[in-house]
Amino acid sequence: MPDLDFAFLNEQFEQQSPAAILRWSWEVFGPHIAASSSFQTQSLPLLHLISEVCPEMPVVFLDTGFHFPETLTFRDELQERFKLNIVVARPAIEKSQLLARYGEALYRRDPDLCCYLNKVEPMQRVVAGLRAWISGVRRDQTEYRHGLQILEPQPSGLLKIHPLLNWTQKEVWAYIDQYQLPAHPLMAKGYLSVGCAPCTRPVYGNEHERAGRWAGLTKTECGLHLNLTRPQEAEYDSTE
Ligand code: SF4
Repeated sequence: MPDLDFAFLNEQFEQQSPAAILRWSWEVFGPHIAASSSFQTQSLPLLHLISEVCPEMPVVFLDTGFHFPETLTFRDELQERFKLNIVVARPAIEKSQLLARYGEALYRRDPDLCCYLNKVEPMQRVVAGLRAWISGVRRDQTEYRHGLQILEPQPSGLLKIHPLLNWTQKEVWAYIDQYQLPAHPLMAKGYLSVGCAPCTRPVYGNEHERAGRWAGLTKTECGLHLNLTRPQEAEYDSTE
């Protein structure tokens, strides 16, 4: 890790564009850096910027095995259109093993464990070989994200970088409009934010864009951005 003054850089970056932050990130850390993306409509500004600024940067897609088929199709279309360097990461535990060990609906009974096994664990393996990790989170998305900095050094030595952190939802839509970027196919059905199928519903009326994620639960984050460690496992009856 180069000797960086994070407090100074964070102050500077609050005034800089996502493209400038992305360019700096690639210059300082490339090729030991990757972005992650869930390939939904709101991912488009970051993916478009990567294709313009640093197209070689790997873009990690976590294939949990629970995605909507539309997400996988959309990912492939974006790869073709923007010539992205997509890297697919899969959980160490296969879907059949997951079902045999935990039963059909671990995502309902213990979503933190489900997210740990299907998202956090594979992402931890990816970032183990990196110096920096780019994510498209924004402060206006969740209470936790509101407290983040653009550069967030981790205890492991990894640097998390959030180039779009101070963008609002309105700025995201304006960027998408300006560059005529495509929309996730489920957008038209009210899915403003799209994650795994069992944990995502459309949003209604004036609901927050992420109101359809883990609806009815207190959970608002998958754990990727929380340094989630493996939760204590309860005893599961796999026949449930
Ligand atoms: S979002 Fe839902 S299905 Fe996907 S890994 Fe998390 S709990 Fe499991």
